[in-house]
Amino acid sequence: MIKKDIPLKLYSNFKIGGPAKFFAIAQNLEELSQILKDSKNLTPKVFVFGGGTNILFSDNGFDGIAIKVDIKSIEANAQSIRVGAGVLVSELLEFCIANSLSGLEWAGGLPGTVGGAVRGNAGAYNGEIKDKILEVESLDINALNTLERNKEECKFGYRISIFKKDLEGKEVITYVTFQLQKGNKEEIQSLIEDKINKRKLRHPLEYPNLGSTFQNVPVNKFSEKQMEQLTQYIKNDPFPLIPAAKLNFLAGLSGTRVGDAELSKKHTNFIINLGNAKAEEVKKLITLVKAKIKNLYNVELEEEICYLN
Ligand SMILES: Cc1cc2nc3c(=O)[nH]c(=O)nc-3n(C[C@H](O)[C@H](O)[C@H](O)COP(=O)(O)OP(=O)(O)OC[C@H]3O[C@@H](n4cnc5c(N)ncnc54)[C@H](O)[C@@H]3O)c2cc1C
Repeated sequence: MIKKDIPLKLYSNFKIGGPAKFFAIAQNLEELSQILKDSKNLTPKVFVFGGGTNILFSDNGFDGIAIKVDIKSIEANAQSIRVGAGVLVSELLEFCIANSLSGLEWAGGLPGTVGGAVRGNAGAYNGEIKDKILEVESLDINALNTLERNKEECKFGYRISIFKKDLEGKEVITYVTFQLQKGNKEEIQSLIEDKINKRKLRHPLEYPNLGSTFQNVPVNKFSEKQMEQLTQYIKNDPFPLIPAAKLNFLAGLSGTRVGDAELSKKHTNFIINLGNAKAEEVKKLITLVKAKIKNLYNVELEEEICYLN
């Protein structure tokens, strides 16, 4: 069940990453518990992931165990649906269409798993994954006991949750329960397809990428004078923000390249892998962009992507 020296680039949407010393895929809660138990004899370092759409794996790989959470079940009852953390958001949306369930249409085209989305409170088009959550179940990596938290206890915020903050590296999200409403099947499908098509138009999906590199910047980070110029770009999603893509574009960073890593000309918050990009090149490009934005706006861009070093 636990394998050795598996290249993480195979599991990365960015096609970047050296080997994990130990590697396993957990398809249900029992397997996940067993893998974690067995790994205690091998390494103290544990990293869990889902779709690999938001992580920059290091070129040197990972000197511990990387576990892909692949729990795929979806159980529906009258009031709610309980979804395995490894279910892809696209699979969940197919289920919603088939069962005429409304509430997650905003997520059309959002890559990655339900577990990854909950950890970072993924959002787009005025929706956030937290909006329809009733409960999140998780497994304590050390004690191996299961825990349940209601929405309040998950401490969701802009691209954050308790799992990304206080519980980072301590718990694995295993199941998520959503409360959705019955709706019109055709309408649900059409709204989801609309979002998918918008993404195809705006995002450089032709290349491996990790989505938005930087978080959008709250308007209160800018001076009044700066806001005179920037007001026209305010995006209210989920509160007034200046898109990092716009700042990067205005700074003339579109198309900036380090090796095979390029700040996309199509969407200036996406870094694309032109073929053989290295994590080190991506990091250099990120440092360069942050320095330029700091210099121009006196604002610190914060990464939306995460790193595994
Ligand atoms: C083309 C593209 C478009 C995107 N658009 C958006 C967007 O509109 N909005 C948005 O918010 N994001 C967006 N993203 C980013 C990304 O898709 C989301 O953050 C997604 O929810 C990550 O899910 P994942 O399963 O791929 O997570 P991974 O990349 O596998 O992991 C991300 C982090 O979550 C942790 N994690 C994953 N699964 C679990 C688990 N079960 N338990 C505990 N921790 C876990 C990992 O340890 C890691 O720290 C986009 C990415 C791409 C490539």
